[in-house]
Amino acid sequence: MNFKKNDIEIIYSRLRKHLPGENEFAINHLMETPKYSLVKFVLGEGNRLKALISAGIHGDEPSGVEAICSFLENNRFENFADVWELTFLPCLNPYGYEYGSRENHEGKDLNRLFKHDSPPQEVKFAMSIFDKYYDLTIELHEDFMTPGYYLYQKGRRAEDDSLGEKILQDVKNIMPINLNGEIDGCSAQEGIIIPENDFESMDWWPMALYSFFKGTRRCLTLETATKFSMAVRIEAHLVAIDTALNYFSRKE
Ligand SMILES: [Zn+2]
Repeated sequence: MNFKKNDIEIIYSRLRKHLPGENEFAINHLMETPKYSLVKFVLGEGNRLKALISAGIHGDEPSGVEAICSFLENNRFENFADVWELTFLPCLNPYGYEYGSRENHEGKDLNRLFKHDSPPQEVKFAMSIFDKYYDLTIELHEDFMTPGYYLYQKGRRAEDDSLGEKILQDVKNIMPINLNGEIDGCSAQEGIIIPENDFESMDWWPMALYSFFKGTRRCLTLETATKFSMAVRIEAHLVAIDTALNYFSRKE
């Protein structure tokens, strides 16, 4: 029998409390079965650079959800408020978050269904957020097996390839990097996995490849290591987000 491990409403009320305006906790898309709200909010609406930051698509990876709360609660947007419009999807799998399961209530791994003909409602909701162009998308995950932090990156401009390295350089002050030559069945270099180029022929897409397909300049999937404490995992993600946002806003 399943027992609730977390309460998504606590997360939503923490976020609501720290949002600059009541109205900005926007577009609650209510799932009918089971009854959960899928939530998005936007900071810095109308700013020149656009990023989408999402978490909790795997329900048993709570550090990304916590990192988004912490980003808001500690005013980390302050440094970016002139340049960035940040759209947040704080928890894409609220059922999984509550019950500590990777999959949703139907037993589906949502991050495998972004090429599906009739995707689940959580995936449909995430897809609907791509009605605009993003310079950057960041997905926050965690991995139970990894000895350290690593990331996937895919982008349209080779000049941005250095971003992955920059992120890991900063993160390694918080958490070691996974330097294995193979991570999660993919070949990796210094903690960076570059998904294959022939993504169109894949049978399934994760959210990052859907993002790339929709034209995003740089797509990042960030993986923190569950073996470290929650505080360390959160800090590692926050440092990675800072570095990624700074990379674009300082350059242009
Ligand atoms: Zn994950």
